[in-house]
Amino acid sequence: MRIAIVGAGLAGLTAAYELREVAAAEDSQVDVFEASDRIGGKLFTVPFNDGPVDLGAEAFLARREDAVEFFTELGLADSLVEPSGKSSLVYSGGELQNLPRGGVMGIPSTSAPIAHLVSEDTARKINAEADAVAINWTVGEDRSIGKLVRERYG
Ligand SMILES: Cc1cc2nc3c(=O)[nH]c(=O)nc-3n(C[C@H](O)[C@H](O)[C@H](O)COP(=O)(O)OP(=O)(O)OC[C@H]3O[C@@H](n4cnc5c(N)ncnc54)[C@H](O)[C@@H]3O)c2cc1C
Repeated sequence: MRIAIVGAGLAGLTAAYELREVAAAEDSQVDVFEASDRIGGKLFTVPFNDGPVDLGAEAFLARREDAVEFFTELGLADSLVEPSGKSSLVYSGGELQNLPRGGVMGIPSTSAPIAHLVSEDTARKINAEADAVAINWTVGEDRSIGKLVRERYG
């Protein structure tokens, strides 16, 4: 049997890893097809001044024992690190600013928590968002958050 896995992101690579023993036992072949020029999908690390920086996913909940077990099985147990506890900051207006607090999953519902980061015009748009025209979104559409925020808030 030949097995084709489309996409070498986390899901595709994990599927290939899980299937390899079955494939070996049944004399099958697993092929992973990736459209881009690198594997990893949304897992993407780039070099930065003070060391590598993750641009996509960088964390998992350690209380998920299956995740810890999986990384241990891959021989990566010694590479796992705990979050530093330092909060993220935003570089804006030439200096580091605190991230806004409150809101739903970090998204503020009024401009108050981010007034130090946005213009008065944007603050007005954020405050008027509840009465603004509804977002025209098709279920399943992969929409750019950045584009959406620019459209709504300038
Ligand atoms: C900024 C950001 C931060 C995140 N942070 C976290 C986090 O901290 N913890 C966490 O658990 N999750 C996090 N996530 C979510 C997590 O990254 C994703 O859920 C996960 O990486 C998705 O893996 P995937 O394999 O399903 O998809 P993807 O990583 O998108 O991989 C899909 C792959 O398939 C390829 N592909 C697509 N179509 C084709 C085709 N037709 N032919 C061949 N190849 C194709 C793509 O090029 C891509 O490489 C984050 C996501 C983002 C964007």
